[in-house]
Amino acid sequence: MDSKQIVVIGGGPGGYVAAIRAAQLGARVTLVEKDRIGGTCLNRGCIPTKALLQDAKLLRSLKNSPVFRYEPLNPSGLLRSMVERKEKVVDELVKGIEFLLSSYRVKVIQGEAHLLNSKRVEVIKGRNEREILEADAILLAPGSVSRSIPHLSPDREKIITSDEALELREVPQEMVIVGGGYIGVELATFFHTLGSKVTIVEILDNILPGIEEEVVRNLRRIFEKEGIQIFTNSSVEEVRKEGTGLELKIDTPKGKMGLSCEKVLLAVGRTPNITSDLTQAGIENTPEGIKVNSYLETTLPNVYAIGDAIGETMLAPIAMAQGVLASENVMGFKRQWKKPLIPLCIFSYPEIASVGLTEKEAKERGPIKIGRFPFRSNPKAILSAEPEGWIKVIASQKEDTILGIHILGPDANILASVALTMIGGKLGEFTRFIQAHPTLPEALREACLDVDGLAIHLPKPFRGRP
Ligand code: NAD
Repeated sequence: MDSKQIVVIGGGPGGYVAAIRAAQLGARVTLVEKDRIGGTCLNRGCIPTKALLQDAKLLRSLKNSPVFRYEPLNPSGLLRSMVERKEKVVDELVKGIEFLLSSYRVKVIQGEAHLLNSKRVEVIKGRNEREILEADAILLAPGSVSRSIPHLSPDREKIITSDEALELREVPQEMVIVGGGYIGVELATFFHTLGSKVTIVEILDNILPGIEEEVVRNLRRIFEKEGIQIFTNSSVEEVRKEGTGLELKIDTPKGKMGLSCEKVLLAVGRTPNITSDLTQAGIENTPEGIKVNSYLETTLPNVYAIGDAIGETMLAPIAMAQGVLASENVMGFKRQWKKPLIPLCIFSYPEIASVGLTEKEAKERGPIKIGRFPFRSNPKAILSAEPEGWIKVIASQKEDTILGIHILGPDANILASVALTMIGGKLGEFTRFIQAHPTLPEALREACLDVDGLAIHLPKPFRGRP
C-alpha cells in the first residue's frame, strides 16, 4: 500500500514538528515554507529574544555585583555583539531543524503555498515558478503576524515591532513600548538593562493581563523602582515625528500628557495569519482564528490547522503539541485536543512562571489557603545575588490539593517544570521530599509548608493564621 502524502504549510514549531511526527508514522511529507525554517519562534520570537535576555542577565549580574562592578562604556557596542551572538544561535538552531527534517526525508520547498482545495496546494517559488502539490491531507501552520493599531502603523525605523527591536544596532536613549504583554515586558527588561529609558503604555488596568495579580503588582513595583515608567489604563493618542525623534500624546487616568522618545515599540499582540486563499478554498474562521473541531480538523475535510493560526493560546509549545496531535489524526488516530495545563513563563527581570489557577480563579471554586516564601530567605537566591521575588502556593482548604503556583524570581522557568507536576497533588506529596541544599527548590518546599504555617525559615506566623 502506498504511504500517505501529506503537505504541511508553514515551517514554524507547529509545522516542522507535525512534519516530523507524520514522517515517523510513515507518511511522505512535503513542507512548504516561504521564509526560513523555524518560523517566528526561532527567527523572530522566543529564541532571539531569550538569547538577548540571556546576555542582559549576565550584564545585569556584572553591573550589580559588588565584586565586578562592571559598567559598560559602550552599550551600543555591547548590543551589536549581543545581536551577532543571537544570530549565530538562531542559525545553529535553524540548521539543526533542517537536519532533523532531512533525516526524516521530509521534502522542504521554499516558496509561498496557496491552498487550492482539500487535495491540492499551489506553491509559488522565486521568479514566478509554480508547482502543484497533490496531497491526501494538508496541515495548515501559517502562524501569526504582529497586530497594529489604526493610528500607529510601524514605519520599521522609528515605530517598530519586535522584529526590528531584535535587530537594533544602537541602544535607543528612550523607548516607549505600547502594550505591556509578554513582549512588552521582556523587551522592557532588555532595553532598560542596556541603559534605555523605558516607558510602557498599557491600555488595560495592569500589565500582563491574565497573570496572577499579586505577581504582576510586585513585578511592577520592581520595574518602577528601577526606573521603568508604566502607564496603565492609558493609550497613545498621537505620534508625531519631531527632528530625529518622536513626540507622543498619551491619554492617562491623570489626564493627557506628552512624551518624547527615540523609538516606539509596538507590542499589542499578534493576530492569526489567515491568507485569502484559505477562505477562498472554503476554510471557515472564528473571531480567534481558523475554525477547527476537537480533532484540529478545519471545515474542509482532511485539512487540519494548528498553532497561532487557530488562535487558542499563541505559544510555541502549544503549536508543537498540536502538530503532533494533528499528524497522528491524519495518520488514523482519533485524538481530541484538550487545552493542556502549561506553565506561563515570562523572561523579564525578575522572571515569572505561573502554573494552574490564579488566586481569583481558585477562590471562585471554594475556600483556599495560601503559602508564600520570599527568595530573600533562600540561601541559593542570596548567594546568587538574586533575592528579589517570592513563590506563592494556592491550595484547596478542603482537599489540601495544590491549585496554583506562581513564581517571581530567579530561574522561575525551571521551577515551573516541578510546579507543573505538583498541580492537583496534595501538599504533603511534595513536602515529604528533601531537596538538595542550597537550591531554589528548597524555596518551593518552604512555600508549600507555609500554606499551613510550617515553613522553617520564616518567623513564627502571627496568631490567628490557619
Ligand atoms: P500580548 O497579548 O501578550 O500583550 C499585548 C498587550 O498589549 C496586552 O497587555 C494588551 O492589553 C495591550 N494592548 C493592546 N492594545 C493596546 C493599545 N492600543 N494600547 C496599549 N496597549 C494595548 O501580546 P505580545 O506581548 O505582543 O506577544 C505576542 C504573542 O507572543 C503572545 O501571544 C504571547 O503569548 C507570545 N509571547 C510569549 C512569550 C513567552 O512565552 N515568554 C514571550 C513573548 C511573546
